[in-house]
Amino acid sequence: MPQIRTVTEEELARQREIMARRREKNAGLPAPPLAWVDTYGCQQNEADSETIRGMLREMGYGFTEAEGEADLIVVNTCAVRGHAELRALGNVGALSHTKRAKPGQRIALCGCMVQQAHMREKIKSSYPYVDLVFGTHELWRFPELLDRMLEPHKGRLFEARDIDGERYEGLPVLRKEGVRAWLPIMSGCNNFCSYCIVPYVRGRERSRAPETVLAEAKQILSEGFKEIYLLGQNVNSYGKDLGGREDFPWLLRELNALEGDFILRFMTSHPKDASRELFDTMAACDKVERHIHLPFQSGNDRVLRAMNRGYTGDVYREKAAYARSLMPDIAITSDVIVGFPGETEAEFEDTLRLVEELGFDMLFTFLYSPRVGTPAAALPDPATKEEKQARFDRLLAAQNEVSCRMQAAHVGKTYRILIDGEGDKPGRLTARSSHNRLIHLEGDVSLIGSFREAEITGSTTWSLSAVLKDKEE
Ligand code: SAM
Ligand code: SF4
Repeated sequence: MPQIRTVTEEELARQREIMARRREKNAGLPAPPLAWVDTYGCQQNEADSETIRGMLREMGYGFTEAEGEADLIVVNTCAVRGHAELRALGNVGALSHTKRAKPGQRIALCGCMVQQAHMREKIKSSYPYVDLVFGTHELWRFPELLDRMLEPHKGRLFEARDIDGERYEGLPVLRKEGVRAWLPIMSGCNNFCSYCIVPYVRGRERSRAPETVLAEAKQILSEGFKEIYLLGQNVNSYGKDLGGREDFPWLLRELNALEGDFILRFMTSHPKDASRELFDTMAACDKVERHIHLPFQSGNDRVLRAMNRGYTGDVYREKAAYARSLMPDIAITSDVIVGFPGETEAEFEDTLRLVEELGFDMLFTFLYSPRVGTPAAALPDPATKEEKQARFDRLLAAQNEVSCRMQAAHVGKTYRILIDGEGDKPGRLTARSSHNRLIHLEGDVSLIGSFREAEITGSTTWSLSAVLKDKEE
């Protein structure tokens, strides 16, 4: 049984007291200190960074995007692939110059990368100017850790506990202004896919209480957001640890019933737990968009078994077919790993076939990256880098063809779109269709945040272009 503790009200109150004290101290300064929060990795990390910003705001910090200006830099790291770690480390390396040019600047590292003991050792030995390192389970203790870092103390601070996880609620969140709000509904993962570091660095599954999720959704809507993006490593296991009747389809129905003109999206759905009820619910809920991210990882059954994924290629095909039988226009996007240890050329071709056969609206393709401590990292891996790269390139070329074809099929159709931001040139906007397709169009910035009817007039591999049908609303 996982050991999951609930953080006590006293412990949270102590963090609030520390925040209030720091706010008072900062209010006495000639100008508020500035923080820069730099985020790597997935949307879960984006959401954690919003909590860090929320706590910093409570402590009287202002924000900057310019590292040279920042009094405090927080780097929220990712560990999913070696590439993400190298990128974060490269940027932390560059901060040594920034810090030299701005005496008194403090640097903190947090997130999945530094939850790993060997990475903390690396930071200790090779990045002496990093002041504070804290693991994923310490997020709620950030005020206390920051306080200790800012007050006189000996040495640098390294804080990480190797635990299954803790439950807590009520930390302040500062969301980026805009149209879309991330709403984490759970954290951690129990699936232990053999290649994946996430369960080791984020602990066991903890679902948030339904009342809290619903209250936060209402709060988000009252702030004017138009899209709620529910987040979890596997949203389909939402509620399993709560022991009640609340599961993910139930949560979707409850959220769908909230008042207002808004849309719901969610990520990620593990195919083994994507039930018929989930698809029935999506089809029945008018605010749930026609898109599911359903990572298949490999099209070969032996590889899927070695990955510990819990389904076969045919089971995946059946689920996709069921979803499409209910919602013929549903967009299915997916993740796939190329070059899993021991993957043969023939096994890779099963992946290629699945991609050509099912027609994904978008595919995120990754070269397998060994992760310290995961079972797959210990498997023999005879394929060369060049062979893996060649497979990767073939898969990409195949998907590009599929994407081009599927994108072109939207041309001439009229969709209700959500205009979500400014485009790359003045007078240009970006939007998303229900299928989560990126759309470029012309229009005034005052349209951002509105739902409009638009006709798709053109397509490329990655995006669509459109014109508004309803000039006035
Ligand atoms: N929980 C989600 C899921 O199961 O789909 C997403 C987890 S992970 C942050 C996102 C994607 O990264 C995975 O779907 C997988 O394709 C990829 N990934 C995870 N570990 C990897 C590794 N060791 N090497 C390459 N890709 C990896
Ligand atoms: Fe990693 Fe698998 Fe969990 Fe996704 S479901 S986070 S791939 S272990």
